[in-house]
Amino acid sequence: MAVKYVPEPFRIKMVETIHMLSREEREEAIRKAHYNLFGLKGEDCYIDLLTDSGTNAMSAAQWGGIMQGDEAYAGASSYYRLVEAGKDIFGFEYIQPVHQGRAAEKVLFPLLLGPGKFAISNMFFDTTRAHVELAGARAIDCVVEEAKNPSKRAPFKGNMDVEKLESLIRERGAENIGLVVMTVTNNSAGGQPVSLENMRQVAAVCKKYGIPLDIDAARFAENAYFVKRDEEACRDMSIKEIIREMFACADLFTMSAKKDGIVNMGGLIGVKDGDSPLILKIRANCISFEGFYTYGGLAGRDLEAIAIGLYEAIEEDYLAYRIGQMEYLASRLDDAGIAYQSPVGGHGVFVDAAAMFPQIPYYEFPGQVLAVELYKEAGIRACDIGSYMLGNDPDTGKQLHADFEFTRLAIPRRVYTQAHLDIIAEALIAVRDRAAEIGHGYRITWEPPVLRHFQAHLEPITD
Ligand SMILES: *Cc1c(COP(=O)(O)O)cnc(C)c1O
Repeated sequence: MAVKYVPEPFRIKMVETIHMLSREEREEAIRKAHYNLFGLKGEDCYIDLLTDSGTNAMSAAQWGGIMQGDEAYAGASSYYRLVEAGKDIFGFEYIQPVHQGRAAEKVLFPLLLGPGKFAISNMFFDTTRAHVELAGARAIDCVVEEAKNPSKRAPFKGNMDVEKLESLIRERGAENIGLVVMTVTNNSAGGQPVSLENMRQVAAVCKKYGIPLDIDAARFAENAYFVKRDEEACRDMSIKEIIREMFACADLFTMSAKKDGIVNMGGLIGVKDGDSPLILKIRANCISFEGFYTYGGLAGRDLEAIAIGLYEAIEEDYLAYRIGQMEYLASRLDDAGIAYQSPVGGHGVFVDAAAMFPQIPYYEFPGQVLAVELYKEAGIRACDIGSYMLGNDPDTGKQLHADFEFTRLAIPRRVYTQAHLDIIAEALIAVRDRAAEIGHGYRITWEPPVLRHFQAHLEPITD
């Protein structure tokens, strides 16, 4: 039985029309897009679950804030408003706006990483891994083993494997580890949360070896909700208290505000110590790449919308509704016997495409197969989080074998209704029912060297 849908703690004031193309039109559109979902036009997607990044619906308060944005080049009041919100929520002394998450990575990582260095994470998000490598360093994932088994229900499958972290540091030499990154929630593992206890253990290891700890904080609020719900010791804490405790463990954070900032564009860098020598370097890089440090590549109105969105994201009834949407969709898949990374995470359902298409090997990209089939089935746009996304080894050029082959159904914030979730579940069931008829996956006919999944061309493999 599907779990009860948690009703929206808002009502709808503005709508956008969506259309579904015919099946023939969809097949033509995906072929023209070289079977890359990123190549489709947005208007050709009926339900767009490509990402929860920047696809959020802003509130009336945020749109009101947009009108109040101060567009002064330097020292805009909207900048100070955002800085105050950031200091208040995260307890950090320095807050730097940037235009999105990868900009935070581009500005910060070269200050800590270079050739011969390593960065270790519970799991690197794709752009985060790319920026470690662009800085000349190498990225190592160190997630707990249970994350790799989608059918194993365990809380906090996003956690770092602390023992492995320490042995990696010893193996490579602490002086060669430029950074440890805790991704909350752990996006690539399925939006799986990290516990406060794990955060504290990782912080203790980092402190012992003198390695800076960065939180990749895109989904800080969703993570805090899971901590409150599932971590015994945190049950009576407020969401804000949990966030403060989490961030107290770290030295730095990088954040895509396009997720839990509930905006369409924006990012942040945080430095806990307001006297850190890093701050002047961050400002210098920001001025070179992003714009003056009081706007960081954003308009004043964007800064205003983030300042408001950060507070809306930590409201508990919003988070109960938000996580409730994931649980509702996941329970419909449970009823149908469709495997996904369970328990469901914070920002989407990560369907286990390897389980649905056991006949398709990782190098034919089962996650991509399911994404294409969902589009053909019902105009639903999802994406691969598997070997196709992971790409090639930067040293050998060989296709890497991902720990899992997911098709991610990322749910934009405050955008889709219960009926949309039902259509998604029904489309998945229809694809599952004909999954055995699909004999082969895809081969790549063209790929760029970095972040290939955004642009690569694919073609179906035939007998
Ligand atoms: C989205 C995301 C990023 C990159 O942010 P952008 O705003 O897309 O540049 C980095 N890390 C994580 C965990 C993310 O989810």
